[in-house]
Amino acid sequence: MRDPMASARLPDTADVVVVGGGCMGTSTAWHLARRGLGVVLLEKSHVAAGATGHSGALVRQHYEARLGIRLARESLGFFRRFKEETGFSCDFRTTGFLSGTRERDLPAFEALVELLRSEGVRAERLTPSDARTMEPQLEVSDYAALVHDPDAGYADPIATAHGFAAVAVVEGAKLFDNHEVSSISTRAGRVVGVKIRGAGLLSAERVIIAAGNWTQDLAATVRARLPVRYVRGEVAILRRPVDFGAPPRIHFDFYGNTYSRPDGRRTP
Ligand SMILES: Cc1cc2nc3c(=O)[nH]c(=O)nc-3n(C[C@H](O)[C@H](O)[C@H](O)COP(=O)(O)OP(=O)(O)OC[C@H]3O[C@@H](n4cnc5c(N)ncnc54)[C@H](O)[C@@H]3O)c2cc1C
Repeated sequence: MRDPMASARLPDTADVVVVGGGCMGTSTAWHLARRGLGVVLLEKSHVAAGATGHSGALVRQHYEARLGIRLARESLGFFRRFKEETGFSCDFRTTGFLSGTRERDLPAFEALVELLRSEGVRAERLTPSDARTMEPQLEVSDYAALVHDPDAGYADPIATAHGFAAVAVVEGAKLFDNHEVSSISTRAGRVVGVKIRGAGLLSAERVIIAAGNWTQDLAATVRARLPVRYVRGEVAILRRPVDFGAPPRIHFDFYGNTYSRPDGRRTP
């Protein structure tokens, strides 16, 4: 995608500097710019170069804490309205979400289904044979029961970040790819800006680090230690057999800590 600000000159000052052009940084830049702040977003590579561009981008409400469920519900609503809100598409697709429980975990499973329902999630409890009818290719012999959330789906994470970046620019933010922040600058204990590799100081009293896995490194330049832990995720892309049938729903296997989702609408 074309860099929307490729020809712009880097300003000397900003109200806020956002470091990182993933979904968090681009979204933050938009939200601040639409509130009238002068925002500069600096990305060391290109928009969505980090975890965002490699994400499965599932949007599900199936979480175990009320707070997580509520945040996910707000996010799901936003992803559905993404085009109306931003003017750009995030290509959100509703697929439905299935996950199952083994016999020994049934009490915790029932409690979770109750919690989801009490938060307004359309969590449908299924027997393995119901699930088999709904998703004929899913192996359910291990499960004593399953839950189905018909509203879950996935977005295109690259389109999401580019949508946020583009609408941030529409609202007046300035975005710069290939600009790496090497450190945060302070004077008398206060943030005064960021140092950009090869370009010197950009002055700002507010700096937002949305640098994903690199956040700790930048925070360390002002001696802040953050409790951020990395978890490596691996991705396999498989071609469905020609006689597979309709694209499957998202299936989350909490026992194997894996999930699967279709990619695109086409059957092969
Ligand atoms: C394989 C995989 C699958 C996932 N699946 C899901 C899922 O299904 N659902 C879900 O909700 N989440 C999922 N996630 C998690 C989700 O993708 C991340 O939580 C999210 O993308 C993080 O966004 P971010 O903007 O914080 O970080 P990133 O997308 O990592 O963005 C950080 C950006 O900062 C830039 N940067 C770093 N250092 C500097 C610097 N010094 N100067 C300038 N720029 C810098 C990087 O180049 C990068 O572009 C998945 C992640 C992975 C890896």
